[in-house]
Amino acid sequence: MFKFVIFSVKTQLNVHDLNNEAVAGNVTDIRIMEFLDEDGKRLEAPAVSGRMLKHWHLEGMKHLIVNGSYTSVPLCAGCKVGEPIRPGNIANGNLLQNSGISEADAIKNCVVCDSHGYLIAKPEATAGEGGISARRTSRAMFSWLMPVLGIDTASKQVIHNRVSSDPKTMMPFNKSYASGIYAFVSALDVDRIGLVELNLVGTSPYAINDNDRKERVKVAIEAYRLMLSGQIGASLSHAIPHQNPLEILVAYSETGPLPFPVSPMYSDYISKTIGLMPKNTTILYWGTESPQGITKKNTIDDIFTELVSKV
Ligand SMILES: [Zn+2]
Repeated sequence: MFKFVIFSVKTQLNVHDLNNEAVAGNVTDIRIMEFLDEDGKRLEAPAVSGRMLKHWHLEGMKHLIVNGSYTSVPLCAGCKVGEPIRPGNIANGNLLQNSGISEADAIKNCVVCDSHGYLIAKPEATAGEGGISARRTSRAMFSWLMPVLGIDTASKQVIHNRVSSDPKTMMPFNKSYASGIYAFVSALDVDRIGLVELNLVGTSPYAINDNDRKERVKVAIEAYRLMLSGQIGASLSHAIPHQNPLEILVAYSETGPLPFPVSPMYSDYISKTIGLMPKNTTILYWGTESPQGITKKNTIDDIFTELVSKV
């Protein structure tokens, strides 16, 4: 099984509202981020937070487990209803806080708690009894979704109407939609899925067996495929992005962790990413370029098929 995989994605998304994270009155506004171009000039454009991308990776995993073919992969009650364990979370957080469940048991019970991490603050009453917050870092890491430099982005506010049979209760509201060519990078620390951090010495450092680990890694990888198809927003019922994947670069290593890739928001990200990777890294690419020294795939599915076959 490989130990670490990174993803660099460049995709066109037309008329999306993936970044409507700021609400003011009846206007849901688009999230604008400031950043610099390659000459250091300040720019502003719609962007989508890495928290949002992480959330939709998690949603993809849930979808594949609950409605797909990974039914043997466990989800805890909190993560099943989309409330990952957080302080004061009634679904599972309290159970963990009150029962003092171990990290190993939290891992065994749930692939999301295992791979996306959690943070449980001890209640104040017990904080003085030698207790500290229970925390597990995420094995899945995401950048923001950012516009590719040198290409224009566009956004437009549209007035919608909540339909009612009584014209007096019709309620107009505004939503913004954006279009652009975007990039994001992500890393999946495969080797630490199932790993109990404090168990590094001794017998197996893993809380689950090899087969169960493999199933979890496959779900986490397949969830990226859903994300690449534009399943990364809350408005999918009426605003599926007009997506058009342009380039995907994936690198995996069977020997150890990898550096994060150079972002496809920059023009020379492929050669820089190749130049950054250590020996014994396998690099796969799908897209219009023909980079030297890496394996070019005919379809995006070819990339996922190879990754899953190496798990
Ligand atoms: Zn969970």
